[in-house]
Amino acid sequence: MNQPLLQVTNLKKYFPIHSGVFLRHTGNVYAVDDVSFHVNEGETLGIVGESGCGKSTVGKTILRLHEPTAGKVEYNGKDICELNKNDMVSLRRELQIIFQDPFASLNARHTVGIILQEPFVIHKMGTEEQRREWVFGLLQKVGLPKDSYFRYPHEFSGGQRQRIGIARAIALKPKMIVCDEPVSALDVSVQSQVINLLLELQKEMGLALIFIAHDLAVVRHVSDRVAVMYLGKIVETASAQQIYQDPKHPYTQSLIESIPVADPKTKKEKHRLKGEVPSPINPPSGCYFHTRCPQCFERCKLEQPQLQEHQQGHQVACHLLDE
Ligand code: SF4
Repeated sequence: MNQPLLQVTNLKKYFPIHSGVFLRHTGNVYAVDDVSFHVNEGETLGIVGESGCGKSTVGKTILRLHEPTAGKVEYNGKDICELNKNDMVSLRRELQIIFQDPFASLNARHTVGIILQEPFVIHKMGTEEQRREWVFGLLQKVGLPKDSYFRYPHEFSGGQRQRIGIARAIALKPKMIVCDEPVSALDVSVQSQVINLLLELQKEMGLALIFIAHDLAVVRHVSDRVAVMYLGKIVETASAQQIYQDPKHPYTQSLIESIPVADPKTKKEKHRLKGEVPSPINPPSGCYFHTRCPQCFERCKLEQPQLQEHQQGHQVACHLLDE
């Protein structure tokens, strides 16, 4: 079997907490806690979970926008965590990110032309004239008019701004894009247009995508495989079809049942999710989900379940699998 484009192994990202007069290290936020997964060339891995489950931190840590606490992130067989600053800058040509809030990620004082030229300038590519032509090409590719070049980010709608964010991400012809909640801030009517654009570009450019979202309906639409995260850990991973047709982890079952349906009477209540996600500063003992799990039993409070193969390509971290 070919080696995956991205292999993440035992990745941890803890944010230290300092308190008191002497700002002593008093604890950690366990944002990402021992996570492993892979992404193959040209495929989409969806990462889902409620807010605060660590999914965005995973995306940012892969790109070293956060330095990992421990673990390996191998891209094309090379450990990204070992690269120096210069090597990391060249690697960013191949690994890009699209942020949730396009407005915050675009410099409001620059025109779109300047913003989209920036990746070429950083990587010392082309003459000014060539760069201008490339930017016009990018605008066309993401469905924005040519005169967008001379306008400022505030003159665009949310959906158009996300198109600018996508244009910037594809400028250097990357192999992989981390899409961090790319449509969460957009109106439902605009979401599908942006998703369709991403899917078209993926097909055309052979892109691998990590699609991070809390909306399972969206993830289902775009993903080949899905990883479900809860409190910094992956609790279930499988093909999108397996996850949606035969979810095994009680948390995944609850998330799927909370997807809105056209007729509310058809909604099953069996696995309805109750309560809040516990604090990642002080996670519960045993299975992190035991405080909310409708199927919790004694062992769950004492022993942490490990991710284990349920079927080929379908892994689950739940003691019910051993019963
Ligand atoms: Fe629920 Fe126990 Fe499975 Fe955790 S290990 S998800 S508490 S049944």
